[in-house]
Amino acid sequence: MVSKGEENNLWSEVLLLSGLGAWEFKKEDASIYLSEPGKEILGLTMPEPVSISRFCQLFTHPLNESLKHSLILFTAQNLPFILRQTLLNGRWIRIKGFMVEDGEKRRYLGTLEVLEVWETVMDFTLASQHEYHYLFEDNPMPMFIWEFSTLNIVDCNRQALMKYGYTREEFLKLNIRDIRPEEDIPLIEKYTSGEDAYGEFHKKIWRHKTKGGDIMHVEITGHLVEIDGKRCSMVLIHDISERIEAEEQLLESLKELSDYRFALDESCLVVIVNAEKKVEYVNQKFQETSGFDTAGINGSSLQILYPEEDDSLIRECWEEIRSGKVWRGELRGTKREGGYFWANTVVVPIRDNKRAVYRYIWVGYDITSKKSLDLALVEERSILRAIIDNLPIQIYVKDLQGRHIINNKFQYENFLGATTEQETLGKTVMDYFSKDKAADMMAYDQMIIQTGKSVLNLEEHYFDEEGEKIWLLTNKVPLFDSQGQVMGLVGMSKDVTKRKKEEEKLKNLYKELELKAKELEISNQELEQFAYVASHDLQEPLRMITGFLGLLEKKYDSILDDKGRQYIHFAVDGAMRMKSIIIDLLAYSRVGRKEEKAKFINVGEIVENIIKLNKALIHQKHARFKVHPFPRLYIPISPLHQVFQNLISNSLKYQSTENTPQIEIGCKERRKDWCFYVKDNGIGISTVYSEKVFVLFSRLHSKNEYSGTGIGLAMCKKIIENLGGKIWFRSSEGRGSTFYFTVPKIAPKDPPRIQGV
Ligand code: ADP
Repeated sequence: MVSKGEENNLWSEVLLLSGLGAWEFKKEDASIYLSEPGKEILGLTMPEPVSISRFCQLFTHPLNESLKHSLILFTAQNLPFILRQTLLNGRWIRIKGFMVEDGEKRRYLGTLEVLEVWETVMDFTLASQHEYHYLFEDNPMPMFIWEFSTLNIVDCNRQALMKYGYTREEFLKLNIRDIRPEEDIPLIEKYTSGEDAYGEFHKKIWRHKTKGGDIMHVEITGHLVEIDGKRCSMVLIHDISERIEAEEQLLESLKELSDYRFALDESCLVVIVNAEKKVEYVNQKFQETSGFDTAGINGSSLQILYPEEDDSLIRECWEEIRSGKVWRGELRGTKREGGYFWANTVVVPIRDNKRAVYRYIWVGYDITSKKSLDLALVEERSILRAIIDNLPIQIYVKDLQGRHIINNKFQYENFLGATTEQETLGKTVMDYFSKDKAADMMAYDQMIIQTGKSVLNLEEHYFDEEGEKIWLLTNKVPLFDSQGQVMGLVGMSKDVTKRKKEEEKLKNLYKELELKAKELEISNQELEQFAYVASHDLQEPLRMITGFLGLLEKKYDSILDDKGRQYIHFAVDGAMRMKSIIIDLLAYSRVGRKEEKAKFINVGEIVENIIKLNKALIHQKHARFKVHPFPRLYIPISPLHQVFQNLISNSLKYQSTENTPQIEIGCKERRKDWCFYVKDNGIGISTVYSEKVFVLFSRLHSKNEYSGTGIGLAMCKKIIENLGGKIWFRSSEGRGSTFYFTVPKIAPKDPPRIQGV
């Protein structure tokens, strides 16, 4: 069993669920009390009960007159009623009133029910003549009736005339085709051809045309009625143009929104985070970039992606967005697999109806590759900077006005005397040099800037604070921008003061040397002159001495004893030796005095000639000769003859008595010269004397062992060096010697040919 109270509650719940509003008229205060749903239906906000006349004012006039009438009858005579009324907002309401006996007490109760538009039409057919007038003619909605067989319009209400813009006469002459746009007319045939095309009741959306030609979207609610025995359709017109337009606009904005979203998803990383920093959504692009998928990240803390502890920027971002401000910046996110991604990010806080921030939308543009390029660039720049700062030369960059925009460490510390680069930037040479010097430097820089040409290996100088002359070796090249316009210059200068000083010293030394060489040449010439004159002039008195010694020996032979004769012999021998010395000295001093003209000659001919001249000695010593083929050279003959003569006669002379001289003479062609040699099997020379033998008057043996003057090899050296060659020997004592000398190749028109002797 349910109690009365419980039962009441149950019924009020049923009432609530049915969507009905309830009301009660209380006689005590002649007021109508409304339930909450009842108030809502009527659009009442006040909590107090309302009077009957206030209640009736909520409905349209004049239909509400019948309501008033019915309410009076209801409360006075207990007559129940059911009425359809239109509210001021156009809504159709069904109102019922019925009396209930509650014990002794009579209660006047009622319901309120919102009607759909079609329900009003349904009701219309059931309505009395009296109500027809209110329901059709005074209906706030446009209505008309058309006939099935002719499609002619047979009746309409005032609202219809206003909607379509016709007078009553005009409208009643129309056919339903006339209020349709041309292209929709075939559809009418389709819907009206069959008898059952329209049921008792139908609802459809059409396009209707007004008299002015405006097209409107209408929702019609039609009902089959019979008027004067003809099948007619009574239609209620609901203009939904605005709704359709709004729907279209909505669709359009939805489409626009989805386009934006598509574009956003294609290009950006999107994350939605709630107020508790929990991820609610990540888009596809974000998943691809971060490696986290929706399932893995949704509901997790944003800390996974952007840890706050090691990133002050993300902390700053949170502070900002929590206060409701938009934040922009470059954020570094952590990838699922490790490593990072970079996004240029905008974080927008989103507020609810109460203006409280309840979520944040993070939209980022992936800049990882740009960022890594940036980082690589920064790294590269710092490497380059380290290189230029540590180079021991001055490097600087100036703009078009000559202002320093870069100075390397060497430049600002050693040259400009600054401790940081910053102090030197923006300054020009005017700040560091004398006016004249700076003007010169400026002019040079301007020339480079104007011509766009480099100046390389420029030697410039200035005087430092101590007045010392400092030399710089400078290269300056113009600096071009991406359009090829000169935007400044790069200069590199090296302090070459030390080198310059050394060069200066060398120059002085060279001058001194030249002077000495000249002095030496003069003294050599004087010496040679003296030797020539002396040897030439000495011959005459020597001839006299030998002549008178001969006469002395001849005339006083009878009175001379052996000792006297021996003395005369020694004197004659000395004079003879002196003669040969004088002859050799004369020959030596003549070397190079007269330039003999070069001729083509087969060197073999010279050698052959000398062998012939020494025939007697060769014969006496039983000497054997091996002579190799020689080239034909373009050369002065006498000097070469003298050299061979000396070498061959030495090779015959410096032999031990028991030895048979074996002499080989030959020549080897080398890249730049011809190398001749005279080889013997004689007594040999210790290599200790390799230099000494070529010195004038140097003899290794006494005149008793081997005769000679010590001039021959000195003369050979002089001749060969005059010809541009060299002379040397290889020997070992007791095993013979080989004397070599070279004659440089010249470029004769007729190239030498090797020929046999
Ligand atoms: P000299 O008139 O004494 O031969 P040279 O100038 O021709 O003067 O030679 C200098 C010295 O070199 C000689 O005294 C000799 O001692 C040494 N000499 C030169 N040629 C030979 C040789 N073929 N073998 C050994 N000794 C030599």
